[in-house]
Parts: sequence; structure tokens; C-alpha cells
Amino acid sequence: MNPHPLFSMCSLYPKDERMICACFLGKDSKIVEDMKKLSVDYLMWASLVSGAISLQDLEQEAGGRRVWDKKGRDDTSFIKECNQEGIKVFSVLFTAQGYEIGITTDKKEEKLVEFGRTLKGKEKYWGLSEFYQNKYPKIFKGWKDYFDQPLLDEKKRPIKDFLKETTCYNLKGEPCHALWTQETNKYFDLKTFLMCQNSPHWQNYLKKIIEMQIDAGCDGILFDETGSPFDWGIMGSGFCKHCMNKFREYLVGKYGERFQNFDYKKTLKKRGQGFGAIITYFRDAPLGLDFKNWQKLAIRDNFKELVDYARQYSQKKSKEVLIAGNFAEVTPFYFPLVDLIDIFNLEMMFEMPPNNRNTSLYRLSKALAKEKPVTAVPTIFNTANLRERSKYNLTTNLERYFIAEAAANLANYQIPYSGFTIEGKGAYYPQVEELALYQSFIAKHKEFYQGEPLADVSLVCSYYSYFWSFNWINYPGRHMKSFLGIEKLLSHLFIPHKIIILGDDKYLEEVPKEISRKVLILPNIEYLSKGQIEWLNRYSAKILIIGRFAIFNERGEERKKRLSLEALYLKDDLGSKYEWSARKSITEEFAKRLKELLPCPSISTNLPPGSILSIYKHSTQITIHIVNGQYIEKEDSFEPLKDISITLKEGEINLQFKICNLKWSKATLFTPEKGREELTSSKEEEGISLFIPEITLYGVVKIEFKQTTL
Ligand SMILES: [Zn+2]
Repeated sequence: MNPHPLFSMCSLYPKDERMICACFLGKDSKIVEDMKKLSVDYLMWASLVSGAISLQDLEQEAGGRRVWDKKGRDDTSFIKECNQEGIKVFSVLFTAQGYEIGITTDKKEEKLVEFGRTLKGKEKYWGLSEFYQNKYPKIFKGWKDYFDQPLLDEKKRPIKDFLKETTCYNLKGEPCHALWTQETNKYFDLKTFLMCQNSPHWQNYLKKIIEMQIDAGCDGILFDETGSPFDWGIMGSGFCKHCMNKFREYLVGKYGERFQNFDYKKTLKKRGQGFGAIITYFRDAPLGLDFKNWQKLAIRDNFKELVDYARQYSQKKSKEVLIAGNFAEVTPFYFPLVDLIDIFNLEMMFEMPPNNRNTSLYRLSKALAKEKPVTAVPTIFNTANLRERSKYNLTTNLERYFIAEAAANLANYQIPYSGFTIEGKGAYYPQVEELALYQSFIAKHKEFYQGEPLADVSLVCSYYSYFWSFNWINYPGRHMKSFLGIEKLLSHLFIPHKIIILGDDKYLEEVPKEISRKVLILPNIEYLSKGQIEWLNRYSAKILIIGRFAIFNERGEERKKRLSLEALYLKDDLGSKYEWSARKSITEEFAKRLKELLPCPSISTNLPPGSILSIYKHSTQITIHIVNGQYIEKEDSFEPLKDISITLKEGEINLQFKICNLKWSKATLFTPEKGREELTSSKEEEGISLFIPEITLYGVVKIEFKQTTL
């Protein structure tokens, strides 16, 4: 695979109008030109998406004319043109969305008059139900044009309504909806449903979409809402008959035949525990731990079934498709899916400098994805904000910052080209020419975006602790909240650190293979397996335990005996407090405690708080990435960083990177604005100091050394 590929969203929603989500416009050569200017390798959210409405629409999108865009070019032609330019195009598999779109037809129902609007009193819809029922045979193709047989339910009765059968339902038996598309109902006559991947019929329908996408020439498939229906558990999903049947099967498998006729909904209602208990994963809800554990397994099984199918089908067609998983902000349900993907897609709420940064999720995702590329697309809330700022030309430097911030963490900011938005009219379009400068810088220096990070500290993310303490009300749960806060504190103090994952021994490594950092930090790690405890007991460096520790085992059961380790215990969970308490006092307190374990970090700097500093070792060089965080929001500008000094403790660097004979005279600064500049450096008692006169927003220092590694 391409080392450090660059990604862009490329949906093509109109600039000034509202468009139905999943109704992309056809793309012409101007778009391909823009993508070339942005040095993009892979286009995400880019094609073949309308299977959420019907297969007829998908077929038209692939090789015909969309009913909502008669002028636009078909996606197969677009993909071919992109491929000629070396750009790969991803289709999108919306696993969670099912649509019904208002239409107007002529009297005889032989001609479509309008798509997206229906006449009052004569309401007509086109979508999954009508497609299945072949309701408008003169206008649209139907189910029987794509499948041999109509469907039967689990009791072998004919299914009459496809949507009714495959939507997921809440505890009260009401259909669930895709929350993020509800707002578009203001602009269109549109009903959207949250579909259930536990329904075998929905899974089979998705497989047909996959076949059609591969036949139409996509280079990869981006699986959206890979954790559905549970990644939207906050909507109350998870109680349709398919979910309940599968949960019953799980219980029978685990506890035996006595669960054969078990009715979970009834049991919950009898105990008076409904929606609230479920979304908080209340420990005392009947079979609460089992229900959560089963959701994780169901997500894994359903995702694997589709991914395997896509890979097998493409092999049959002598093609190779890449699989990207949209893991949103990485709820714990996504952890067991990482081995199944080629590309790790984050969809995250970007926070703005100078007071915030987005490094934590990048670093966590990189730790999970390892060599696989990580790309992050802004949420529809961010794109709405960017669109409004763009009216006053206030986005260019902010987006340059996002590009640099991701790159400095070896990840990628996915340019939201024609990004769908949550509110208002029109998609977001970035300043292509201005962003091209930063994109081409990264494309030109791909060798900078690899390497092993320098790290004095290993910060632990514990899958079990995250999984069991996660809930939708106290999002993202005790462990992750603490973990994210500590990561921010370490970044804030410029302490070089690396994320390590304590996994589950099934889909993830239970303990890391190598670890030689000076300090290990355990933030609110309440859940540990026996193997992980043994590993901690063998661990020889210093340990800092923050907050709660080792109360439960990996199954979520309370331990009888408390574990005590030789460590510095910090009962006050500074990580969880970081967000809202006095930042300064928390940082000072944390710095003081950390100093007891780490008196001499490998790197020190005079960079102002909010800057990003990361350092990596490559085969014959070290790179130091510096990102300016001094953003002036109302001007979309940066106060340049001046007279930066960075001191590297030579002994520490040698020890960690196993390098000797460092050639400090060969320090060179690379920036998008000025290109290449030689830097001066000096050797002092405490280490080697680099001096950088100025950085506008982003710079990479390359230090070359003689190849006399140990
Ligand atoms: Zn369901």
C-alpha cells in the first residue's frame, strides 16, 4: 500500500442548496483536477452510495443517470478517470441507513415528476419498501429485477414490508431512526430508519450492494456505521426481533437450554428497568453484562461477514478492494474490528486551537492501527462551522493546522471537500489552492510520516477498562475520560509518550510484546485480566497509577482480592478533571507528581503551550515535527513561533533510539512556506540544542546521522 496516503472526502453535495444525505451529484473532470491539486491518493465518501434508497438508484448512480441529478456523470466513468490519474475511489456502504424519499408522479404513475417532494394529500414515497414491493414498475425497477425470490421470515411466512422487517426497534417496539439525518426532513419529504445488521435480510441486501459497487469499479469500500445498530444505542436500538433472537442464542450457548424461550424485553420491563438502564449499561440490569458483551460479539460477527464477503467477491472478479472502517470516535465496540480493515477512518469532532488539540484520538488510533493508515474526517457539526467561517474567509489556516496536526501524529486530515453539514443550506468546500501548499508538502515528504516515536512514557489504554466502563450518559466512560485527559497533560508538558494497548487476547494482543519506556501510566484501569496482572508484575520500570485500579476481572466481575503493585498511586484522577477544572492547577499538580518518576525527560523546549512536538526515528534520520498552536480565531491567523529552542538529551536519545555518532550539524528545517533551511545547533552539557528562528504553522526538522547504529 501507498506509504502515508492522503485522503479527501469527495461526495459532491451542492454548494448552496440542501441535498439529501446519500444523494451525491455526478462528478466531472474539474473535480478530478481539484483532487490532483490536493495531492490526494484516496477519495472517501466518494461514490456508489444510494443503495440506502434502492438498488435501482445504485444501478443508475453506477452507470446511468441519477433521478436527482440528470446532468451529472455516472460514477463508473468518474472512477475510471480518477484511476488514470492514480487516484483510488471508495464507495460507501451505509450499513445503518434506510430511506424513504417523497416523490411526485403523474396520474398514471408512469413518469416521475419530482424527487424529494410529495404532494399533500397524495403522499407517495420511494425507498426500500416500494422497491421491495415493486410499487412503481413503469418508473423504477424493483426487487424481482435483482433477486430471484421474495423473502420469507423466520417462520417461513412471506415478508410484505422490507423496511418494517429490517429496521431495528427500541424497547417499546418503536422503529429507530438515523438521528443524524433527521434534520434534513426540514428540506425534503424524507423518512430515514436505523437498520438492523442482525437481520439476515438486511445483511444480504448489503451484500448485494457490495457486489454492485465492486462491479462498478470501486477500489475500496468505506463501511459506515460499522457498529450499528449498537453504535447508536443511545437511540434505544437493539430490541428488534433479530437482536432479541440473536441475544437468546448467545444466552442458550452460554447458560444452556433454560434460555430457549427467554424474553429479554419482558424481563427488563418486569424489573422496571428500561431504556435508562440499557444505555448506561447499568450493572444491575438483568443480564446487563451479558447484553453488553453480546453486542460486541454481534458487531464483530456482522462486520466480518460483510468484509469477508467483499474480499471473496472481489477475488472472484480478480480485483482487490481495500476495506476502510469508519470507527467514528472509536467507541470500544470498534476495537475488535481493527484486524479486519485496511484503513482506519475516524469521524471526529475537531477541537480548535489554541485551547484544544486533537492528538489523543490520532495517537490512540495509530496504536490500534499500527502500520495501517489513519485518516480523520470532520463531523457534520465541524463542516457546518467551517462553512459558516468560510463566508468570512476564516478557514484556510485552521484547515492547514488540522492537516499539520494530523501529519505530526502520522495520521491524515481528510479534506472535507463538499462535506455534508448538519444544519443550513449547502455543503462545505475548502480553499483548494491554499490547502494544496500543505497537502503537496506532505505528499513530497512521505518519508517523514513513518518511524518509531521517542517516548519516555507509555500511556496505557486498557480495552477491558474502556469496554466495561463505557456508557452513553457518562460518555466515553471513566477509563477513556481519564486516558484522554492524561494524554492531553503529557502533550501539554511536551513529555514524549506512546500509547500502548492492553487488549483482549482474542482480537487484540492481551499485552504488548515490547516495552522499554521509563514510566508506565495506568489511568483509571479498573479491569484487568490475569495475564495483564502478571505482565504488570513483571514490568520493571516505574509505574504511576491514577484513579481506580484493578477492581474487576476481564469479565466485568469484581475481584475478591485487591491487587497491590509497587507504584506511585495518585488517587485523585487528574485525567478526568482536566477538561473542566482549572487547567493550570491540574497541569502543575500532574507535572509535580510525574517529576518524581521522570526527573529528566529526553527532550525540553521553550515552545509555548498548545504547540505540538513529536519526534520519530527513521532508519538514517530523526524527524521532529513542530506545529504552532497559537491560533487567532477571529483572524484565522497564527502568531508565528519565534526563537524556538529544543534540547535533546543525547544520552536518552541514544538509549532509546540506539544511535551513536549523531551528526547534529546536519539539522535541516522543512516548512511548506519556505522549503528547506539549514539550522544551527550546539552541543551543551545537558544535551544538544537546536535553534529555529521562526515557524509560521508547521515545520519538520530532519537530523541526519552516520549509519553506525548499534
Ligand atoms: Zn435489531
